[in-house]
Amino acid sequence: MVRSRKQNVVHIADGDTTLVALARGTRDGLPVFGWGEAPAGLLTTTQLRAAGLSPAGLDPLALLVFRHRKPYARLTVAELYSAVAAAARPEPTEAQRVARLRNLEYAQRALRTCVECAQEKDYRVPTSTRQCWSCLEIEMANAVEVAA
Ligand SMILES: [Zn+2]
Repeated sequence: MVRSRKQNVVHIADGDTTLVALARGTRDGLPVFGWGEAPAGLLTTTQLRAAGLSPAGLDPLALLVFRHRKPYARLTVAELYSAVAAAARPEPTEAQRVARLRNLEYAQRALRTCVECAQEKDYRVPTSTRQCWSCLEIEMANAVEVAA
């Protein structure tokens, strides 16, 4: 098979092993592979999900550049992740998932709670004052009275 493109040998550290492969070049410091050229240990987000894995918390090790089957489809760049690293990372437990959701809810509630009247509003209070609109209005009215 004759390769028309210039290819570079790249070494990709994947946990304890080093993947050696021919890349088309680099982009943002990551080796770029064409469809079917990436080392077997590297998977796209879609491929990871299909394998029951998630790329959450992982840094991409390489990029996959390909065109969809339709001729007018644009060039697509997908990040490639280490399947080994994704599999080695423990999935969050149910308790961790619940705790994460609770933290998120707590943060959302804090953003809607007025520091003055401690009421939770159905809107986010301004980050500058952390006060709800009614408290802000009262304060502004008082300020005007003082000034008058
Ligand atoms: Zn208030």
